[in-house]
Amino acid sequence: MATLPEAKLYIDGVLRGAEGGKTFEVIGPWTGEPVGTAADASPADVEAAIVAARRAFDETDWSTNVDLRVALVTKLRDLFQANKERLSDLARHEAGAAMGAVGRAHVDMALDGWDDYLAVFPKLKWEKDYGGRTGYGFESLRKAVYEPVGVVAAITPWNVPLYVNVGKVVAALLAGCTVILKPAPNTPGMGAIFGELAAEAGFPAGVINVVFGSDPALAGEMLVTDPRVDLVSFTGSTGVGKRIMEQGAATLKRVFLELGGKSAKIVLDDSANFAMDVAQTMLVFHAGQGCAVHSRLLVPRSRYEEAKAILKHAYASFGDNWGDFDNPQHIMGPVISKRQMERVLSYVDIGQAEGATLLAGGKARPDKGGGYFIEPTCFVDVTNDMRIAQEEIFGPVLVVIPFEDDADAVRIANESSYGLSGGVSSGNLDRAINVAKQIRSGSISVNGGMCIAGDLPFGGYKASGVGREWGLEGIEEFLETKLIAWRA
Ligand code: NAP
Repeated sequence: MATLPEAKLYIDGVLRGAEGGKTFEVIGPWTGEPVGTAADASPADVEAAIVAARRAFDETDWSTNVDLRVALVTKLRDLFQANKERLSDLARHEAGAAMGAVGRAHVDMALDGWDDYLAVFPKLKWEKDYGGRTGYGFESLRKAVYEPVGVVAAITPWNVPLYVNVGKVVAALLAGCTVILKPAPNTPGMGAIFGELAAEAGFPAGVINVVFGSDPALAGEMLVTDPRVDLVSFTGSTGVGKRIMEQGAATLKRVFLELGGKSAKIVLDDSANFAMDVAQTMLVFHAGQGCAVHSRLLVPRSRYEEAKAILKHAYASFGDNWGDFDNPQHIMGPVISKRQMERVLSYVDIGQAEGATLLAGGKARPDKGGGYFIEPTCFVDVTNDMRIAQEEIFGPVLVVIPFEDDADAVRIANESSYGLSGGVSSGNLDRAINVAKQIRSGSISVNGGMCIAGDLPFGGYKASGVGREWGLEGIEEFLETKLIAWRA
């Protein structure tokens, strides 16, 4: 495995190692061996990043100079384009992206999303006129003006790191905020490249800062609790999201959360392509490590045995065609870490203990190259109250649950603490949309459509999050509303 260049911090316009020179190893999921090193930020480094971001927001024209922002964000986008190969290497080595998945879910999707942000940005309204009114006062004009919220901490996970980093950093910059990006320790390189290319693009010092470290929660908690940080935009697990909300409360921080999911795909009995709809739910792409994946498959009880046979055949056909680093056809690699592998395997034990039947997979496959490989796994005879149906596993594990009728399918889909995405398949579009409308989640695809794109607002209901990312709404999350009324 190639060794990645050392991931450097980027603070106040300087690309550098950590204070004291400490580094940590980045472990590659394909082999379980180090693939590189990263600067290990100390509290002093995080403090310096906060000071720099605050100063750049308060003392430069970044927050008011829209033309400068668009020019630099566009230039940065071009530099990312020119570094596509490096981005792809990072996604593969750090995040475990398979060659057949690296474009779609990692590099291309992120750069397309970036373009979408730039395309929708001119539609952003910086003012809204409410007209004059007499009553409590006698103002002749009332207006709202929208202003950047200030210093943003962008705290991100490892699963699709480029896409999530772009989702936050680009929107915050366009809105006029300054940013401290804190990527996950598994994928520091995908954060560090923002610093490196921002320096090359000529961003003013302090507008973008990047910090990461090996000490769990150290940098994150400093950012969440510091009064000089105005907004925390977090993507990650629901548990950490709750903690961030609690910790941010002391400084009444604006908190934006994109969290976990346990989304249901409902294949109705009149699906035009029943076999395809069922088979395509196999959770293999990027080893199932996506927040919006459909990890519960709901099929009509009247066709449950048929669905089992379809899945048995689909998993057998998928066979061993996964887990080869150099195979461009492979869309599934390892899971991110030893810890995550053990966690996923523990759910295989839990499912069996709960009485579910393993239809496919269930085992670790260290023979694939020494890393963190788990077979594509499917449980049938699952009831929705089981832990494997309620808890986010975040690995290649699909559970299949029968339903009686449309109302029962909706009930099962909604009996979840999460509400991130979902899917409905039916030969009758009205029926499918009727079911989709009853599901409490942030997005639902009908007959396989995609609800994830840079021009669409994405986010969750319930324990899946607060707020929306991407699209115009995603940029508006970083704005404050100020009202001005005057008497002529
Ligand atoms: P995680 O453990 O919650 O960590 C996410 C980030 O939070 C990391 O940078 C982590 O870095 C930091 N962090 C951890 N504890 C913190 C604390 N107390 N205060 C501040 N920051 C803290 O999540 P993950 O394992 O990286 O990612 C997987 C999760 O992300 C899944 O649940 C998945 O569903 C979710 N996800 C959601 C979306 C979405 O759009 N809804 C998209 C992708 C992923 P340190 O450990 O260094 O602190």
